[in-house]
Amino acid sequence: MTHNSGVRAAFTTLGCKVNQYETQRILETFEEAGFAVVPFDAAADVYVINTCSVTSIAESKSRYAVRRARRAQPDAVVVVTGCATQMALNREEHIPDADVMVPNPDKLETLTATLRARPDLRPIAVVGPRPRSTGRTRATLKVQDGCSVFCSYCSIPYTRPRMESRPAEDVLDEAERLVAMGYREIVLTGVLIGSYGPQTGSGGPDFETLVEQIADRCPGARLRISSIEMRQVTDRLIGLMEDGRVVPHLHIPLQSGDTDVLRDMNRPYTQADYLRLVERLHRRVPDFVLTMDVMVGFPTETAERFESTLHVVRETRPLKVHAFRFSPRFGTPADAWGDPIEPTVKQARAEALNALSGEVGDGVRRRFLGRTLRVLVEGKVRRDGLLEGLTDNYVEARFAGSPQLARSYASVRLDEAREGACYGEIAIDRPGLLVRKSGSA
Ligand code: SF4
Repeated sequence: MTHNSGVRAAFTTLGCKVNQYETQRILETFEEAGFAVVPFDAAADVYVINTCSVTSIAESKSRYAVRRARRAQPDAVVVVTGCATQMALNREEHIPDADVMVPNPDKLETLTATLRARPDLRPIAVVGPRPRSTGRTRATLKVQDGCSVFCSYCSIPYTRPRMESRPAEDVLDEAERLVAMGYREIVLTGVLIGSYGPQTGSGGPDFETLVEQIADRCPGARLRISSIEMRQVTDRLIGLMEDGRVVPHLHIPLQSGDTDVLRDMNRPYTQADYLRLVERLHRRVPDFVLTMDVMVGFPTETAERFESTLHVVRETRPLKVHAFRFSPRFGTPADAWGDPIEPTVKQARAEALNALSGEVGDGVRRRFLGRTLRVLVEGKVRRDGLLEGLTDNYVEARFAGSPQLARSYASVRLDEAREGACYGEIAIDRPGLLVRKSGSA
């Protein structure tokens, strides 16, 4: 593809895996329509910014990206979409520097239609579609959109209100295509992924059946679920981890470990529910690893209630906690409660949580020392010359080896835990342990 062969389009994404997936789809449509896709920091004729509104920081970053595009190329067309754009539209506000604001639902279709309606943006040459296999190991695959939980702090039900499950055949076809392109891991994403099912789709299977079907059709790739609400972790899903069809790792948002705060957050579980679920996961799936999100500084989070969160982190022993700070989101119930927790207090709580996360995470890594685990080797060699990759259960592994192992599976014996990773060696001393799945690079 020559970048000069068409109108140049640049893309950037803020926020979650669902947004990243959607940008990728939009980018591919642009390529198919003949646009020359260039990096976001290059000169372009069209800039597309897929924005995020999950926190006020994400929203500021989104607006900064819009400003940056405008300043870089004052004559370019700046198109914005995504959750921060939808929030601005909900408030009937114009995002400064944006020429076109595309509502979040149907962003793919609307963007294409918008571009068709702008003759000045017609591509001047047609280039072929580019496969998504450019040196990557892991692909995200969106199966579901929309959330109807209405957690009191969250803007997503207002920016992605329509509950939608993609037809199973589309998902299965895309999964097969991704494997054929060389991807060795598929990460299933959705806004409320466990709600995938016949009620919100075209009458297709439920979530667990969809996962089974993908696993059966795509034996060459490992399957991961990007994030799932605790209420949606069913016995059947645990069974899929037990029998190896899904990797033994789940990211289950905790948000708070305090039952009163959870109630104020309108999250439908208690501290005891969460603890029981994680205990069951560890019991049934021996190498199970948990990661989680936690929000600090929710308006009703007292020092004592924050302690309950630390307690749950200690008890459940996640590999990683993603801590983020509460900020009032326009139109949500929690917006009415203001933002009474001082920034310094939020900062101190985030730091305490990060410190505990580091400590607990090291303990999880140490649990696997001496073990030989399957690692999907990343495409790039590290600066220190080592290869790196993730085990099935999400532990980062670093080890010496041939760069030719990139994007294939290797069996690595983990010897040492430090710097947020496990260091080890390829288990070449035991023939047969170097696993390469069918069709791997
Ligand atoms: S489950 Fe809660 S936090 Fe997650 S997207 Fe829905 S409303 Fe937001």
